[in-house]
Amino acid sequence: MPVLIFRSGSDRTQWWLETFRERAPEIEVRLWNEPGDVSEVTHALVWDPEPGILAKMPNLKLIISLGAGVDHLFRDPGVPVQVPIARVVDVNLTARMTEYIVLYVLRHHRHVPIYEARQREALWQSEPQPAASERTVGIMGLGTLGRDAAEKLVPLGFRVTGWTRTPREMDGVESFHGEEGLAPFLASAEILVNLLPLTPRTENIVDAGLLAALPEGAFFINVGRGPHVVDQDLIAALDSGRLSGTVLDVFRQEPLPSDHPFWSHPKVTLTPHVASMSDPRTVIEQVIENVRRTERGEEPMNRVDPDQQY
Ligand code: NDP
Repeated sequence: MPVLIFRSGSDRTQWWLETFRERAPEIEVRLWNEPGDVSEVTHALVWDPEPGILAKMPNLKLIISLGAGVDHLFRDPGVPVQVPIARVVDVNLTARMTEYIVLYVLRHHRHVPIYEARQREALWQSEPQPAASERTVGIMGLGTLGRDAAEKLVPLGFRVTGWTRTPREMDGVESFHGEEGLAPFLASAEILVNLLPLTPRTENIVDAGLLAALPEGAFFINVGRGPHVVDQDLIAALDSGRLSGTVLDVFRQEPLPSDHPFWSHPKVTLTPHVASMSDPRTVIEQVIENVRRTERGEEPMNRVDPDQQY
């Protein structure tokens, strides 16, 4: 019998336990803080596990990340990388992320913050309005999420470009890859969207050098992870006018400390890590399917490459 140990980041533990019982009675589900004999545990379903604990489970067949990102797993230097690691890929999560990106791209493109400020002053004054085809949205990361956002922005008329680690082709999207592709990608990215995973190669990638390579007055949307960004470099670029504004959903420290300068900066719009979230009803079906696959000796879905850490 598969034994799945479960550590959620949410308060819906009871719902998870009941749904597992109903949908997959053959799986014994144990809570993280009541693990019993850890040598019996075959599967781990986790969000942000304490370092070292997974390594103490000698018979794991699969580790499943409860989120799309797996950086929380690789923060543990002892994560058993010989055990397959899978992540969540959820159509609901993808759709919500695309909504968020399209919302903030259009909000910037159509000068919404400027007109809102003018309304407060009863000021009747218009801005020059470029066509969408005259704006380039550059997406860092054309994975599950980046591709979907690109697919929705193209029919709106935007010029969309993407930057990836390996070469990727996508209809209607000009793509760049690797270190040598970064500068030409950035040179036209008037609206830059970060959808990279957090890995040793992408941490601190949004620094003064990257921001200086963007067109003057560019706009930046961060929906990847907080540690992608060097906060003080971003603030300096906003203050100097190099960047016209930013939308931030993710932060180095979450919740964002109340004295952090992002809260009150006039060019920062921020949301509390809500750009997207997965629907537990979809996730639990994927988890059950992956447990069953590994029990049959098959390859799990949505497997992560431990060498690339995404
Ligand atoms: P994927 O793994 O599907 O895609 C990752 C993309 O990033 C790929 O295109 C990959 O390139 C590219 N990439 C990775 N490393 C590099 C690098 N060193 N240089 C250039 N490109 C690189 O991830 P998802 O699209 O599913 O998710 C992306 C991230 O979004 C997650 O890791 C998570 O951090 C974040 N996220 C944020 C949420 C929020 O609410 N704010 C919610 C969910 C996710 P290649 O195609 O060549 O492999």
